[in-house]
Amino acid sequence: MSFTNFCPPPRGRSGGGCGRFAPSPTGRLHLGNVFCALLSWLSAKSQGGQWLLRIEDLDPQRSRRDYALQLQEDLQWLGLPWDDEVVWQSERGDIYEHYLQQLQDAGLTYPCFCTRADIMATQAPHETDGRIVYAGTCRGKYKNSSPKGEVGRGLPPAAIRFIVPDEVISFCDEHYGEQHVNLAKHCGDYILRRRDGAWAYQLAVVVDDALMGVTEVVRGRDLLLSTPQQLHLYRTLAFSEPRFCHHPLLINEAGQRLCKRDKSLDLGYLREKHVSPEEIIGRLAYLAGLLPAPTPANPQDLLPLFSWQKVPQQDIVTLVENTHPNFRNKDTLGQ
Ligand SMILES: [Zn+2]
Repeated sequence: MSFTNFCPPPRGRSGGGCGRFAPSPTGRLHLGNVFCALLSWLSAKSQGGQWLLRIEDLDPQRSRRDYALQLQEDLQWLGLPWDDEVVWQSERGDIYEHYLQQLQDAGLTYPCFCTRADIMATQAPHETDGRIVYAGTCRGKYKNSSPKGEVGRGLPPAAIRFIVPDEVISFCDEHYGEQHVNLAKHCGDYILRRRDGAWAYQLAVVVDDALMGVTEVVRGRDLLLSTPQQLHLYRTLAFSEPRFCHHPLLINEAGQRLCKRDKSLDLGYLREKHVSPEEIIGRLAYLAGLLPAPTPANPQDLLPLFSWQKVPQQDIVTLVENTHPNFRNKDTLGQ
């Protein structure tokens, strides 16, 4: 089978490849996001590459345009400018449709009518570590569905699933080394388009990274195991694969990943407290192993110091007082 794609030749006008930052505009950027943006920017720019910004606003319920505009302003404030125009996923439905149609035409998808309860009912007890492994219940049951999942009158809208092979997908992460995952056992056939018509993350991110000419994907370690799912799409659609560099996560004292609920670690709060961009960048560079002490710095100054070998593999505990020595947050530290 062959696939046509609109893939441009790889970027690298400057010869250094292309990185990207792809936040979801569902709240103010927090330190975990900035850590990712900084590492991705440094990795791309230290190789003389470009760095692109993509707004992952596929979820109409949770994404807000004002957050998307604010995060652009925050990146400028931090000294992390991007190249080229901002790409908005919400404007790219026709492109995702094109690739879904190709997978559909190749017989690699099928409609799925399972509810979450149906899927949970097929889970063996040992598989309930938070991952959901789809058992393939609807595979081969319904024929001739359109990409939108319309199967015929009288049936509700369907999700569209991608058939995965029962074989090990291998790749070498630049920071965490060799990875081997069997998709059939790890996740089963996975969703490309949700029952409500929304595009699934895996399809959109692969199509976008390929079409944007991204050659290096830097993101949190929590997405390490999504990577084989994406690689299977890259290989099926005959896209050239980027390098993957996953980084450790910033976590709180309880071992939880920093998230948008930790208000005290978001840029809105820090900027209100007059923390400077150089203090934030310097502190994050220190946590990343790039500076011997948390001294103020700007991203440009860090370029000659950047190396993935300095970045730890283990997650990094960070606290409000690690971010700025002169203030405490009553909410998270209980005073
Ligand atoms: Zn199903």
